[in-house]
Amino acid sequence: MYKEHILNDLENIVGKDYVSNSAEDLYIYSQDPGASLPRPVDFVVMPKKVEEIQEIVRLANKENIPIVPMGGGLTLSGLIIPVKGGIVLDMKRMDQIIEINETSRYALLEAGVTTGALLSHLNDYHPGLEPPIPDAPPSATVAGNVLIHGSGYLSQRYGDHGSLINGLEVVLANGEVCKFGSCALSDYWFGRGPIPDFIGLFTSSFGTMGIITKLSIQLFTKPKMREIVFGLLKDPKDLPELLLKVTETRLAEDVLLGMQDMPEWMKGYIFLMVYITGDSKEDMERQVKILKRIYRKAKARFMKAPQKMINIYMDKPIFAAGAADYRKGGGFEYVGAFIPLEKVPEAYERAAEISRKYGIPPTIGSRLIGGIHTIVMFFSYSFNRADPKDMENAREALHETNQLALELGGIPWKAELDGQKLMLQKMDPNYKKFLKNIKNLLDPNGIMNPGNWEVI
Ligand SMILES: Cc1cc2nc3c(=O)[nH]c(=O)nc-3n(C[C@H](O)[C@H](O)[C@H](O)COP(=O)(O)OP(=O)(O)OC[C@H]3O[C@@H](n4cnc5c(N)ncnc54)[C@H](O)[C@@H]3O)c2cc1C
Repeated sequence: MYKEHILNDLENIVGKDYVSNSAEDLYIYSQDPGASLPRPVDFVVMPKKVEEIQEIVRLANKENIPIVPMGGGLTLSGLIIPVKGGIVLDMKRMDQIIEINETSRYALLEAGVTTGALLSHLNDYHPGLEPPIPDAPPSATVAGNVLIHGSGYLSQRYGDHGSLINGLEVVLANGEVCKFGSCALSDYWFGRGPIPDFIGLFTSSFGTMGIITKLSIQLFTKPKMREIVFGLLKDPKDLPELLLKVTETRLAEDVLLGMQDMPEWMKGYIFLMVYITGDSKEDMERQVKILKRIYRKAKARFMKAPQKMINIYMDKPIFAAGAADYRKGGGFEYVGAFIPLEKVPEAYERAAEISRKYGIPPTIGSRLIGGIHTIVMFFSYSFNRADPKDMENAREALHETNQLALELGGIPWKAELDGQKLMLQKMDPNYKKFLKNIKNLLDPNGIMNPGNWEVI
């Protein structure tokens, strides 16, 4: 009965075709591709307009039903699976690319625009520009990615994707629409200030502070040429010095590192891929020479990367899913963690031990962000989705890795409930109090993705 009248109200808002509470529709929304256990969902709703979202939010307040905003649902860490039931607000119908401003170099998008759609739109109509997007599948939304401090192939040069947000339009938990950034007082969505900057309230808060309906992100000019300078390093302890030297050159567009036991020839090494860009062959050769010299001095071995690898990694975004699911068991999840550079060697060594302890071949990667100020690490665990024990094994490995990241002074990224809990245990009490106060102020009825970042 409770569900029936809410279903009717939701149908009146978005239309019968765009709301469902049937078991077969809800099944897919009760889980994600990661290792989290499924959790129940009451409704899935696919709005088209901002006004519809406002009405849904007012209804949710009246009926005290949780709302969980969802883009592509691809974080792997269960962030879009409701913790306390309620409505999954699937944003995919809000898919308009509203404006590409070639002069001020930004894209103004509705929140359901996918990274794949933006990339192909730019390739077709603005071939000189490229967006900051992750190596996630192309059905990931730009909003979902920037809102979790995602990163991608431009991040070393320009910063993580959260820092590339120019502005947001948000439906707040009271149903009001509020604009943040230059768009609060200008027709141009070119930047966040200079006014008090509240955009950070909505990043990495996992839909607990409001529903983003529009966003502007920075675009960049496409280089004429791109190449990978590949290297192998035996001892992780040599990494910090090597990375400092590489970044001092300011040549790198992206720096990816990794350790994996397969193929066999990579076992025991950390591989390093520095992406360089340029205008001419001579320009590229000059940069390769500089980097080769740095590798040599830092005890890293320059190597011509195997063509197969080049093919995978030059394709931007790379097809990361294929690489991660190497066991073909259909599942993988990683602890992402922002780690201070000085702790990266230890992170590689100890995370590899955790992998081996759980019988999973180590698959560890990292990416430099914004100079060398942040390093995001990926500790990936693959599992067989059809085997509950294997999934449980992966969850335990993830838990231990979250603990490791925190112990090393790092911060788990896009953390699942377990990781959030560990972070809240360690967090400065006054930060927690501030978080709770802000949350209560914005969302007094606790309807926005409750259970996440919950300060008790
Ligand atoms: C194979 C693979 C490779 C990956 N590689 C990368 C990578 O290189 N870099 C990277 O950064 N990530 C990567 N990821 C992680 C993740 O897929 C991406 O970050 C992805 O962009 C998340 O976007 P999404 O649309 O799937 O977000 P979702 O999972 O839908 O949402 C993410 C969070 O944002 C919230 N949210 C979504 N939309 C809104 C909205 N409109 N308003 C308010 N809150 C909202 C959700 O509630 C959730 O908490 C990878 C994932 C996979 C599976």
